[in-house]
Amino acid sequence: MTITISGTGISRGIAIGRAQRLDDGELEIYEAAVPRELIEDEVARFRRAVRTARQQLKAIRNSIPENTSADITDFIDTHLLMMEDSMLTAAPVELIRHKQYSAEWALKVQRDELARVFDEMDDPYLRTRKDDIDHVVTRIQRILIGEKTATHGDHDDTLHGAIILAHDLTPAETVLLQHQGIAGFVTESGGPLSHTAILARSLGLPAIVGTHTTSHQVRDGETVILDGGRGLLLADIDARTLKEYRRQQREQKKRQTELKRLRNEPAVTADNVPVNLLANVELLEDIRIARLSGADGIGLYRTEFIFMNRDDVPDEEEQLEHYLSLIRTMKGLPVTIRTLDLGADKDCIAADKRSCSNPALGLRAIRLCLSQPELFRPQLRAILRASARGPVQMMIPMLSSASELDQVLAMVEETRRQLSEDGLPFDRNMPVGGMIEVPAAALSAGLFARKLDFLSIGTNDLIQYALAIDRVDDSVTYLYDPLHPGVLKLVRMVIEAGHRHMTPVAMCGEMAGDVRYTRLLLAMGLRQFSVPPTALLEVKDTIRRSHTDTYAKLVKRILDSDDPEQIHATLDALNEL
Ligand code: PEP
Ligand code: MG
Repeated sequence: MTITISGTGISRGIAIGRAQRLDDGELEIYEAAVPRELIEDEVARFRRAVRTARQQLKAIRNSIPENTSADITDFIDTHLLMMEDSMLTAAPVELIRHKQYSAEWALKVQRDELARVFDEMDDPYLRTRKDDIDHVVTRIQRILIGEKTATHGDHDDTLHGAIILAHDLTPAETVLLQHQGIAGFVTESGGPLSHTAILARSLGLPAIVGTHTTSHQVRDGETVILDGGRGLLLADIDARTLKEYRRQQREQKKRQTELKRLRNEPAVTADNVPVNLLANVELLEDIRIARLSGADGIGLYRTEFIFMNRDDVPDEEEQLEHYLSLIRTMKGLPVTIRTLDLGADKDCIAADKRSCSNPALGLRAIRLCLSQPELFRPQLRAILRASARGPVQMMIPMLSSASELDQVLAMVEETRRQLSEDGLPFDRNMPVGGMIEVPAAALSAGLFARKLDFLSIGTNDLIQYALAIDRVDDSVTYLYDPLHPGVLKLVRMVIEAGHRHMTPVAMCGEMAGDVRYTRLLLAMGLRQFSVPPTALLEVKDTIRRSHTDTYAKLVKRILDSDDPEQIHATLDALNEL
């Protein structure tokens, strides 16, 4: 009988292939003592394992194609540096020598000690470093116990077409596995906003995370089905299920081919309402896919990705290079560069290092930038300088109050003045817009619409804050609901405020890229959608099949209702028109 394992689908698509387990879930390491006379042999064994781990990582580094984002290579470099740090090399040797621990146990004791220190600090930045330590320690431990690691760095043909099952995958491993031709992956841990999840989406790899357990239900080598859209892994499948999924897979492929034909068609509804269909990007790969999918421009460039996974802060010149490369790739189409949205789950060396119990409500995004002008100013300068070379607009994340907005606008004006003094060119009319993602900002959207050149609704955070659900906490994911009457009212208020003040309103949260909501949003008056590049053609197709002039009655029923069942049923009816 078919076994169904569910998790969080983080990247859509159906993959059918043989299951290939890369590791055995979490490693179980037991305490073991080494006889005194064999201690130096044990030290040598430990050092050999560290050397091998380093060679593997270097091989991975060398085999990553040149056009891969710097995020990935920086990530591997960080792991390589950690393998040279005494906390992971000298400290375990001390434990082997003085406590007669086996190499595996010494490494585990040292790892637990480091983890305890990080946990006590309760510091979001260091917490991500803790994950890095785990990745590095696990790699060394697997070598010590002679187990196959997720990626050796050698090309492994046996992985071609496989569906990878792993406890966890690093972004570096994900890129490498994709180059080895895997069909998809399933991890027991991980959330939808991890780096690995973001990569899976941008690489178009069907994937599920957070299944908690797969190890005892799936046999290595058996044919399994991964349904990334529904977040399901099916094992022990019968012929009928397999036939049905093969049919769905063929349908999906056919659909992809059909959609590609829309690449150069305009995003205009069947009743001739033009829509601006833009792309959200964070990596170089996305920018290329956005261009290839026929995006009208970039509606959200998440610049914090330039700052993550590295030990320094990119200076004005380096940032300028990134922005110019974005402008060049988009060949004259408008690009919206969002200023840093660091903090909460997105950490970098410059993020707030104080301990705080609610990082999503703390010093993040524009709050962090205003509190650290030395971090913000070079970015303002780089974005303004980029505006001299192409159609750039600047977007400010997480605005919540009028005084905050005034401070930002004053800093932008001061930067303009300094650039003029320095004789550096910039576009004086570069639009400055803001994200509406805090409920209070949505409720007072007029205030922002009056002073800004455009607004963009960030539904990921708007929903997180409106429904009080931490977007990175798996246990409350089930409460995420863009159709919640409270959320719809907030979205409507922003769109209406934009119309009142003649300020364009876009939406760049995930809701904009989900075709279930396209018609509803069009009927609510939204004319700019910024979506993940992989969703772009599907949204365009839905726009082109929409008749906005016939939706008014059903949409009024949705917006007037506070009955979830009625809202869902009416939306279904709207989508079937
Ligand atoms: C959002 O919050 O909807 C958004 C687009 O920004 P991010 O996902 O980067 O927080
Ligand atoms: Mg946001």
